[in-house]
Amino acid sequence: MLPVSGDLLPDLGEQLSATTAALDLHGHLIVLVPAALGAAGRRRLHTIRAILESDRIALVETDLPPLAVALLALQLRRLTGTDLGPGVVAGAARLLTYYLYAGAVLGSVTRLDRVEVDLKSHLRSWVPGAQFAVMANPEAGLAEVGPHTRVAGPNFLTHLAVAAHGMHDDWVREDLARQWQPGQVHEVPLPAASTQWWGNHKLVEFAAYIPDIGVLYRLVTSVRRESCAWCGLEVIGDQCLFCSAQIALNEIGLIG
Ligand SMILES: [Zn+2]
Repeated sequence: MLPVSGDLLPDLGEQLSATTAALDLHGHLIVLVPAALGAAGRRRLHTIRAILESDRIALVETDLPPLAVALLALQLRRLTGTDLGPGVVAGAARLLTYYLYAGAVLGSVTRLDRVEVDLKSHLRSWVPGAQFAVMANPEAGLAEVGPHTRVAGPNFLTHLAVAAHGMHDDWVREDLARQWQPGQVHEVPLPAASTQWWGNHKLVEFAAYIPDIGVLYRLVTSVRRESCAWCGLEVIGDQCLFCSAQIALNEIGLIG
């Protein structure tokens, strides 16, 4: 992934040579672009892609919160070690997003603008000690944390990643883990972008993800593959994420 977060952008020349070297080494690059990335960082990515005139760089937009973005990147990296081509792995970024259960425990929702919050919760967040479980993916949701708080979770086998920062993670590790039944719970560091994304300096970010590469592979290969008519890559989904061409539905596929 290219380091383009924040206001201070790295030197363009250095980024161009690093990108060229990565393309020479790997052939193709898949870049996950968080929706929260600022305009300057986004412009920089498109500049690099344009200067290199490269349809071997896929810029894949994602709405996921930071911890889930990191986990998705790991899942995609593992898929690149299989026999799947770059067009299919890029398309897998969209597919696998639906299998990530991502949220956070927050002490306040007044500065949370990435997940819709109702007014009552806004008012409650001024009560000292109140905590909120906020889900961002696959569906947005919010509940005040209490002994009977229930959060809809995955109905398939996952591991749970937990990143606590300035706040106890008891509720996630005990109550939520009891509800979601993850195979394992992993403590991980909080991503740098998380405090801004969630609008809180203290938080516990969590995400349940499929840890098994065999399961991920089967999910991706269960989707119909097509050849991009423009660049020839094998892809899944309705668009080639490398050259942006729309994928026409195969007529035989429509009939069958
Ligand atoms: Zn293409």
